[in-house]
Amino acid sequence: MPEFDIIQRYFQQKSRHNNMVRTGIGDDAAVLIPPVDDDMVVAVDTLVNGVHFPTNTAAFDIGYKALAVNLSDLAAMGAVPRWMTLALTLPQADEAWLEGFSNGLFSLADEFDVCLVGGDTTQGPLTISVQLGGSVKQGKALLRSGAQPGDHILVTGNLGDAARAIQLLEQKQPVQETYLLKLNRPLPRVAAGQALTGLANACIDISDGLYADLSHITAASGVGAEVELGALPLSVELQEEDLPLEDKYRLALSGGDDYELCFTVSDRQLETVQHKLNSLGVACSKIGRISETSAVVFRTPQGGEMTPDGLGYQHFS
Ligand code: ADP
Ligand code: MG
Repeated sequence: MPEFDIIQRYFQQKSRHNNMVRTGIGDDAAVLIPPVDDDMVVAVDTLVNGVHFPTNTAAFDIGYKALAVNLSDLAAMGAVPRWMTLALTLPQADEAWLEGFSNGLFSLADEFDVCLVGGDTTQGPLTISVQLGGSVKQGKALLRSGAQPGDHILVTGNLGDAARAIQLLEQKQPVQETYLLKLNRPLPRVAAGQALTGLANACIDISDGLYADLSHITAASGVGAEVELGALPLSVELQEEDLPLEDKYRLALSGGDDYELCFTVSDRQLETVQHKLNSLGVACSKIGRISETSAVVFRTPQGGEMTPDGLGYQHFS
């Protein structure tokens, strides 16, 4: 199947326009209508076969996740996603694969009203880059740099399930459906991120594990953090597993792939934030406080301290 037929059948025909798009797929470049009073927000994330997903991952899940990880980045900025471009490198034009991939991609795109406005299709080792654009009220984007000493640290949802899925897959053991769902179909916290604008002082999405990502907030803000390990939100499934508690904490701290939000909130805004997220049906847990030091400290329920092994996954290290 030639390149132009692939583009037309699997991408152009499936993409739905929204009011930001003047010209989408089919010309040399897309023409977008800029938001009048808003700031524009753009992110790009690449998934490489065997690095970001196991080689035997279903095509639907790869398409879903390629957009989900970007939606999570825009969520962390408090932005409304509007359009995306897709750079797709494929070893061959496998129609069943393309059908699954595009269905996964558009299942999320349609849910969040994101229009695919262009891209590039090439032959080579399977690699997917999605660039996602959107908008946020002028000056209201949630940054990593705003955390203040005394702020509460909160996270949405549960931590560690996706990392547990990867661990079990690597050990060739059976993996519970709830863990697989968290790994392959993370639900980006887009509405929660938007609800936090004007309320949270700092925000990040947890892609590399809480330790690494909270450390980005503390470094950017020039502060430290104290986290109560006993307050980490673990799923019922993970709580009930026959594993040392320390291993569960480790999954939550260094595992990554959670795609939850970690954010900081002043005392004054705490109740408002909790109410707002509650009304959106998004669980959130208070896990610690921002400190004046520059250290990120994890306290065990017994009063000791735990240092996670590493700062999550890093390319080239
Ligand atoms: P050009 O040669 O001008 O770069 P291309 O032949 O790469 O154009 O692409 C033709 C049109 O199809 C362009 O509008 C481009 O944005 C779009 N396109 C190419 N690949 C994809 C893709 N994977 N997803 C969405 N749009 C794509
Ligand atoms: Mg091109």
